[in-house]
Amino acid sequence: MTTRSLHKIIPSIPVSDGAGVKLRRSLGQSQGLRLDPFLMLDEFASDNPDDYIAGFPAHPHRGFETVTYMLEGDFLHEDHLGHKGHLRGGGAQWMTAGRGIIHSEMPLQQSGRLHGFQFWINLPAAEKMKPAAYRDIQPEDIPLQQIAGGSVRVVAGSVARPDGQPLPGPIQGLSTAPLFLDVRLDAGQRFSQAVDAGHTAFLYPYAGSVNVGTAALPARQVGVLSAGERIEVTAGSDGAGFLLLAARPLGEAVVQYGPFVMNTREEIEQALDDYRAGTLT
Ligand code: FE
Repeated sequence: MTTRSLHKIIPSIPVSDGAGVKLRRSLGQSQGLRLDPFLMLDEFASDNPDDYIAGFPAHPHRGFETVTYMLEGDFLHEDHLGHKGHLRGGGAQWMTAGRGIIHSEMPLQQSGRLHGFQFWINLPAAEKMKPAAYRDIQPEDIPLQQIAGGSVRVVAGSVARPDGQPLPGPIQGLSTAPLFLDVRLDAGQRFSQAVDAGHTAFLYPYAGSVNVGTAALPARQVGVLSAGERIEVTAGSDGAGFLLLAARPLGEAVVQYGPFVMNTREEIEQALDDYRAGTLT
């Protein structure tokens, strides 16, 4: 069995998005800096309301899925389909833009700490124009598995229970077969996870640091993993909190214009035309 090594590090950089939300972007900070099928990864973490209060007023998406995961703080999602979702600390939102969605993502708090993530995961060509869908996942619906020296929350895919049976997260059955875990480890403790050998996989420590073999990965950097059937991670001397993401690569052309991600330029032109004409959704 091949254990994955740390292949490459992509540091996050500070950017501003939405109506002036300060965040750190790793994947997606420049065109082409993607990990098929992952298009973007943002982390927002601030105690200062000025950094987040403006939020993300109404904006469109087409052609992919957006996933938001909160550690602390509250967001309100509203979309053109009439969905209203209150995203709480420990909760997640899995939104399939499909052919089109227009939504807003606004902080529901005037003060205090906001800490969370949003990543974008691509849809295969055959699913880019499917109807939009939205799923609110409350904190209590994300299974927590205690492990030696830590714990794992399972949002998508599954981990092994101590008896070897799978513990599945709430998100299942997508064609990219995503695995999305939030892992906490005490100093020096180890986490091991089986993955499909050919799937794209990476780590993103948000607290402390991790080691993959002898390679160190500090916080706020994407650690891209080589191919292999197993991921082995050891927490650094301050312990670690990290996201582990993996999914089946699509191997299709990616043409992106802001919030539209399609396979060809013509499809992007169409998305822009549809948005202007009010027929995106
Ligand atoms: Fe959005």
